[in-house]
Amino acid sequence: MKLVRFDDNRLGVLQGDQVRDVTPILDALAPQAWPAPHGDALIAALPDLLPRIAAARDGAPSVPLASVRVRSPVARPSKIIAAPVNYLLHREEALASAEINYGMPVKTIDELGLFLKSNTSLVGPSDGVLHHLPDRRIDHEIELAVIIGRTARNVPRDDALGYVAGYTIGLDMSVRGTEDRSWRKSLDSFTVLGPALVTADEIPDPNTLDFTLSVNGEARQASNTRLLVFDVAKLICYASDSYTLYPGDVILTGTPEGVAPVEAGDEIQCWIEGIGDMHVAVHAPGVAA
Ligand code: MN
Repeated sequence: MKLVRFDDNRLGVLQGDQVRDVTPILDALAPQAWPAPHGDALIAALPDLLPRIAAARDGAPSVPLASVRVRSPVARPSKIIAAPVNYLLHREEALASAEINYGMPVKTIDELGLFLKSNTSLVGPSDGVLHHLPDRRIDHEIELAVIIGRTARNVPRDDALGYVAGYTIGLDMSVRGTEDRSWRKSLDSFTVLGPALVTADEIPDPNTLDFTLSVNGEARQASNTRLLVFDVAKLICYASDSYTLYPGDVILTGTPEGVAPVEAGDEIQCWIEGIGDMHVAVHAPGVAA
């Protein structure tokens, strides 16, 4: 099933180019006392809700996806975890280009570990990316995004994929420069997820997916997740050894070669096999989506 969050926090099931509006299902979410527990309440409840969503779907009203405002399918992750340099050809291009490496050593995930992006950097495709710093190089990075489905700690590698609620397309927007990743990649709108959370049953092997990114129709990135240095199971295992993972937590798996700058006015087109297409506009600072 492909779940979308749209307009004013409505819940939909994506079928082709139509969204079945199953928002009344959200009434089943229990009210939360303060302080709310870590994680996203909808993702945490999905195991119970998915059968009800499936039952409601066929009789639900539908609207064209193109007519709605598509939000991030995860509303409130407790954290956005990201993998640095997890494709070797991206490492090679970073080593070869001073405009990417800025004189910083280019190591791989084995040495760098993981990093965190600000939760408030998260937006959906219809929100678009804000080009906050016209004088700085800001790059696109397409990444398979893993959405954790249940609380996890010290997950054995063989069990790791069982903790996944689903997958979506991620954009890890990045200012190039000497600053720490947690600044360069955490500006408002610098994490885009969408258009749908594709439940894990539809993607039995996340480590064989083709994906592409174009800007204004010009091909920039194309790879396959089989080229991940740390594959999806190893990333979950590694992340859960460091952090307790909560429902809705996001793991951005890293980007391949082909990173390049965007400017205000550009449109970024992303595609991942089994997930679909995501189009994201780049806006000038101060311009509302
Ligand atoms: Mn990245």
